[in-house]
Amino acid sequence: MDINQNNTNDIMDEMHPSEDMDLPTIQTAVTNMLKAFGENPTRKGLLRTPERVARMYTELLSGYLVDPHKIVNDALFEVTYDEMVIVRDIEFYSLCEHHMLPFMGRAHVAYLPSGKVVGLSKIPRIVDVFAHRLQVQERMTRQIADFINEALMPKGVAVVVEALHLCTMMRGVKKQNARMTTSAVHGAFRKNLATRQEFLDNISRGSEPMRF
Ligand code: ZN
Repeated sequence: MDINQNNTNDIMDEMHPSEDMDLPTIQTAVTNMLKAFGENPTRKGLLRTPERVARMYTELLSGYLVDPHKIVNDALFEVTYDEMVIVRDIEFYSLCEHHMLPFMGRAHVAYLPSGKVVGLSKIPRIVDVFAHRLQVQERMTRQIADFINEALMPKGVAVVVEALHLCTMMRGVKKQNARMTTSAVHGAFRKNLATRQEFLDNISRGSEPMRF
């Protein structure tokens, strides 16, 4: 699936990542959910659950509080290197925005530099910033590609994401192995078949099926 339609609305739509999370409100909500399930939130095992869940969300959804520009700003290098840079098998964990259940898998990122490269360790961090939000896989894929395109202004960028979604594995049709692949491409990866193929060949080489 190619989901790059030059639609940057979703980046504009980015929620307002400035404020800290409201932990007491999350705790109250979790307590109310436990009651609604018919549970007893005061029994020993559940006593601290609302607090734990609230703290957990500050980690799982920390991407709202991070400006990805700050990650790359001090790690951009001017170079004459113009071969393809590929970072593959970046493990990520995200939450689907429809069910707030995890989806997780691997992201593969490639770009063709145009005078600028970014420190290699920053690419997984960029993936994490967008993964640690309530997401749909298609939008996350495009946001990663759009951000790298904007920040590095490369000749091209390609992102492929493969993921398993617990909301389809645990409920409804229970398709245990339904794996979804999404991609987003810009520039040379869109225009030049050989460039795109080089990337696709690279990410399929020696890759093992995802195991969780
Ligand atoms: Zn879902």
